[in-house]
Amino acid sequence: MNQAKPTAADIERAIRNIPDFPKPGIQFKDITPLLADARLFAGSIDLLTENFKPGMVDAIVGIDARGFIFAAAAALRLEAGFVPVRKKGKLPYRTHEQSYDLEYGANSIAIHVDAVKPGSRVLLIDDLLATGGTAAAAAALLHKVGAKILEISFLIELSFLNGRDKLKDYPVRSLVVY
Ligand code: AMP
Repeated sequence: MNQAKPTAADIERAIRNIPDFPKPGIQFKDITPLLADARLFAGSIDLLTENFKPGMVDAIVGIDARGFIFAAAAALRLEAGFVPVRKKGKLPYRTHEQSYDLEYGANSIAIHVDAVKPGSRVLLIDDLLATGGTAAAAAALLHKVGAKILEISFLIELSFLNGRDKLKDYPVRSLVVY
């Protein structure tokens, strides 16, 4: 077994493309083979957090649902808190809400009004950047709670959908670009 630290190319090889899921025309990027591989999962967290050290970040914000997996692991790595941005109606306390368009459909996401202290330094993480609507809505929610976004990072970017155009106000990184 290769024990060297995984590269983005190693991670790319573990991402499975599923044509026409959940709708015809969508090329769904299935990350479950990556998550099931301990070395690749840990390596993806190393790469997602590589610009930061413990103490530099107060919270990692993850987007419902696959973003939670990477954001929670990154929070442990950076000794930071974890904050969920969830689909509307899922968070139990008072929330801010933001609607957005998805590559397939439309949705609303929410954050607890007291999710972070104003001025908190946060990283926003999701599994995949497509049109950028989800991440831009999450960034708008973070603005509402007074967080300072240090970076927005994704495991995967579908660059032909130009999602970065909606995130121009922030540093954006992605590990695997299609
Ligand atoms: P968007 O708002 O268009 O950037 O869509 C990003 C969100 O939708 C992410 O939370 C992804 O999990 C999901 N998503 C969009 N397109 C795909 C795709 N082709 N494969 C897997 N997930 C996707």
